[in-house]
Parts: sequence; C-alpha cells; structure tokens
Amino acid sequence: MVQAPSLDLVSKNNERIVLRFNNVPRQYVNAIRRIMISEVPTLAIDDVVMMENSSVMHDEAIAHRLGLIPLRTDLNRFVLPQDCDCNNSLGCSKCRVLLVLDSEATDKTKLVTSGELVSEDDMVRPVSSGIPIIILAPAQKLKFEAYARLGLGSTHAKWQPTTCSIVTDGTEQNQSILTVETTGALTAEETIDAAIQRLNSKVKGFTDAVTSLQVPGTT
Ligand SMILES: [Zn+2]
Repeated sequence: MVQAPSLDLVSKNNERIVLRFNNVPRQYVNAIRRIMISEVPTLAIDDVVMMENSSVMHDEAIAHRLGLIPLRTDLNRFVLPQDCDCNNSLGCSKCRVLLVLDSEATDKTKLVTSGELVSEDDMVRPVSSGIPIIILAPAQKLKFEAYARLGLGSTHAKWQPTTCSIVTDGTEQNQSILTVETTGALTAEETIDAAIQRLNSKVKGFTDAVTSLQVPGTT
C-alpha cells in the first residue's frame, strides 16, 4: 500500500530549518535542495565605481570582497536585471541598489567594516555590520559607489542564499531530512518558499511543453 506523503517541521529559526519528508520521492527533496543553492536569487554587490583608494589593496580585490558581503534581500521588491522592464544598463530602483562608503584613517590604523556601507534602501543592508573590508593605515582613504543586483548562485557563488543545503536519511524507511542554513540574505523559510515556487513553475513549464507536443501525422 502506498503511504500518504507528509511533512514535519523538526526545527526552525531565522537562518536554519530542518524538515522531515515522509513518503516523498527523494528526487523531489533533492530538487528543492539544488534549486535553493543555484536558482533562488539574492542581492550582492556587482559593480563598484572607485572614487579614491589609497590603501595597499587593488581596486579589484576590494570589489571582490564587497561582492561576498551578504545583503538582506526582499524578493518581492526586486527583479533580476534581465527581467526588469527599465531596459537601462544602469538599472532602476527595481533592479539595483546603491551603497556608498567614504572612510579615512586619520592618525591611527583603522579597520573598515561592512557597517560603514550606507545604503539608499533602508532594508537592503549587510546582514552583519562587522564584516572586515580593509585595514587603512594613517592618511589612507577609501571612497566608492557600489551597485547591488539580484543574481543566481549558478552564475556566481556570491549570490547563493545557502551556506548549507543537505538531504540525509531519516530514521525510518522513506524518510528524507532536508537541512538548510542561509547567509541571512534570505531567511531559511524564504529560501525554501522561493525554491518550491521555482520547482512548481518548472514542473508546470515541462507539463505544458509535453502537452503541446503532437505526434507526427496525427493532425
Ligand atoms: Zn530596472
């Protein structure tokens, strides 16, 4: 007898969820896991206009560090640049967020952290204010404009919402345990929600494509 599929919430906080799937095909649980890693978008800094950099680090290395700072993301307000109707390479308020930083070490060495980034959007800010960007020696200065955009983990790891996304065996037969931890850009719940929506739209797209097929010679 086929047992009915069911789902149990094992544990949950903002950044971590553990779910137990009972009698659900492992392929379905694994599809959610893979989509969370590579197809749920988050915001990350993607373009940096350097105004002044008298630090010891090259502009490109600083830009790379900035890209890896997780930014709190609202998927209801932003769209991927390629899906935006602004058709503007600079973007608009729906597809990019400007963050600026202007920092200088005066008479002492100074650690510049993500907390000094000033965002034009109240919600889009680093998930932690303590992420180191650079150490400035006295009289050194760093000033730039940075543009954050939505992107996918399949394009670059900086856009992955997850730090951990695994499927393991449960204690009973036909059980799969899905564990997900996020960077804080999205909550674990938002990440799973977005992945399930994406999976559903893929299944629908596939179904529509198969339904529209015609056997040759039958028309
Ligand atoms: Zn736009």
